[in-house]
Amino acid sequence: MQEKLQLLKELQSLDTERQTLVRQRQTFVGEQDQLQSELDRVQEMVDSLTTEIDGLDEQRREFAQALTLEEDNIARSESRLPQIKTQKEYVAVLKEVDTAKKLSKELTEQIDAKDNELASLGADKEEKAAELASLGEKVAARRSEIGAEQTKVEADLESMTSRREALLKQLPTTLRKRYQLLLERRGGIAVVEARGGACLGCHMHLPPQQFNSLYLAKEVQSCPHCNRLLYIENQE
Ligand SMILES: [Zn+2]
Repeated sequence: MQEKLQLLKELQSLDTERQTLVRQRQTFVGEQDQLQSELDRVQEMVDSLTTEIDGLDEQRREFAQALTLEEDNIARSESRLPQIKTQKEYVAVLKEVDTAKKLSKELTEQIDAKDNELASLGADKEEKAAELASLGEKVAARRSEIGAEQTKVEADLESMTSRREALLKQLPTTLRKRYQLLLERRGGIAVVEARGGACLGCHMHLPPQQFNSLYLAKEVQSCPHCNRLLYIENQE
């Protein structure tokens, strides 16, 4: 019986350690996701600025084309002036030139406004791109640290799994099944110490007779409240 209890205690301590490593592994996965989402967030900002800048560039190009067109019109109209014979036609052409000049002025103002917007967005984009680059470096460094820690955790888990298998094999089938079921259903703690008349798993008092019988260690006993397997320290 002592031997079985000893095995159970060893298994429990191994499994507790394993659970810590499994949680650590999950933490690493969570941190990796977090790092990726930080990178994605800044990348999205850079992308959205790029899209906005492209759109403005396109609008600016259209204004610039329209301006060229108007300037051509003005030049063409003005070049016609010396050949004009009638006063009426002269006035009409002057009016055309005047209208085209007004349009040109408006277009120039719109182009200037786009240039200002583009300059400001360009500065924003540069800032975000620099932030992305520096974040990228930090993330890469942390990822490589995490990678090394993950490799170590995986190796530890692997060796624990084989030690665990070996320990489990030494237990009688029914006890092994009880242990595994309890581990699953009792938050990863299947074997607990009984002390001061109570089960340290659920902190409920054990019937005094049962508590006393634990000293004899004749059979593996369960807590009547939480079903966990009980052992007692300093039995001699
Ligand atoms: Zn209990």
